[in-house]
Amino acid sequence: MSQATSHPDPDCIFCKIVAGKIPSRKVYEDDEILAFHDVNPWAPVHFLLVPKQHIPSMAHVGPEHEALLGRMMALAPRLALEQGCNPYPQGGFRIVTNTGAEGGQEVHHLHIHVMGGPRPWLRG
Ligand code: 5GP
Ligand code: ZN
Repeated sequence: MSQATSHPDPDCIFCKIVAGKIPSRKVYEDDEILAFHDVNPWAPVHFLLVPKQHIPSMAHVGPEHEALLGRMMALAPRLALEQGCNPYPQGGFRIVTNTGAEGGQEVHHLHIHVMGGPRPWLRG
């Protein structure tokens, strides 16, 4: 599966957040990427990084997305520290991307969870 939809999906929660139709607590924004706090955090720091274009999941990612995903992954450590994760190695953070039903994905717009902060966490 390599086909990705770049147009907003009218039923997609994260497309609505990108469009500002659903409010979010923004962490970072540029022309391709939005980061916002998870509404239901598992950890003291828990935000999501999403591409502004509607890519349903990691299963839809192809070579055309290498630069975008590279930028998202490279942003994560910087934003994690800015949001209060403690420095590596005592601190750190967890990056998770659930994919498909068996992967535990609930929102079908590609997103990277970034979780961190002092233990214990609620989950994860
Ligand atoms: P998934 O299970 O798909 O990997 O994660 C979806 C995440 O999106 C969940 O952690 C959930 O709390 C978060 N989420 C769902 N709806 C909203 C929303 O409307 N706003 C925000 N900020 N987060 C949401
Ligand atoms: Zn979407």
